[in-house]
Amino acid sequence: MAESITCPSGLTGRVRGMKVREERILADRALAKSGGQVDELLSACWEELVEAGPYAFADGKVNWGQVLQGDRFFALLQVRVLTYGPEYAFAVPCQSASCRARINWELDLMQLPVRPLTDASRASFIAGNRFETTLPDAGKRVRFRLMTGEDERRLPQLQRAAPEKMLSSVLAYRVLDIDGVDSRDKRRFVEDLSLRDADFLVDTFDAVDCGVDTTLEVECPECFMRQEVELPFDRGFFLPGTQRAARRRERSTSSPA
Ligand SMILES: [Zn+2]
Repeated sequence: MAESITCPSGLTGRVRGMKVREERILADRALAKSGGQVDELLSACWEELVEAGPYAFADGKVNWGQVLQGDRFFALLQVRVLTYGPEYAFAVPCQSASCRARINWELDLMQLPVRPLTDASRASFIAGNRFETTLPDAGKRVRFRLMTGEDERRLPQLQRAAPEKMLSSVLAYRVLDIDGVDSRDKRRFVEDLSLRDADFLVDTFDAVDCGVDTTLEVECPECFMRQEVELPFDRGFFLPGTQRAARRRERSTSSPA
């Protein structure tokens, strides 16, 4: 059964749940490494484009590389919900160093807050994906971009090349130019930013972007500490079968001999 969905930017289409043949995509390690898995899954399950939103697609087909990260994640979430339903169960370790208990949590994926793309952001995106802000400490105006599918592929490659420079990689990648700074000096400028400016930039990226809020508050059943976690988005999200194996094990150990 295909269903009509509208992504945070207004991109609208009909999507269906995954079929057995899509297991091949999920299991393909080469695709996972290249970051092409999400594109393949979305292409397979997106049956019809109804409204392109802010995108200019050639030949009436969605090019997932052009699509904003927030839309991509929203669409993936809908594919997951259409395939297995909205309930998602996962486990995370308690963040308290003296506890570390296993926190089993379950949530309804349809309840995650969705932030639509504002009209102002839509206009900046259409006009070349250029956004502008002023750094509070450096006092300079900077232009930056929202992340698309293509960026989602490229950025991890850059980060793998310099894992100790995660933050500066992200900032240097997303900042397009800075008033009075030569493009060759961009990297150095970014590394010299105060952490307050860096933090401000990351907040500004989020504030003008669209997407699904995936930060959750969970409570530890042992020490009752409330803590924020990022929604785990791993194999179990699309292949709950691995959880089924665990459930079977649990059942067989708890059943009377
Ligand atoms: Zn705990």
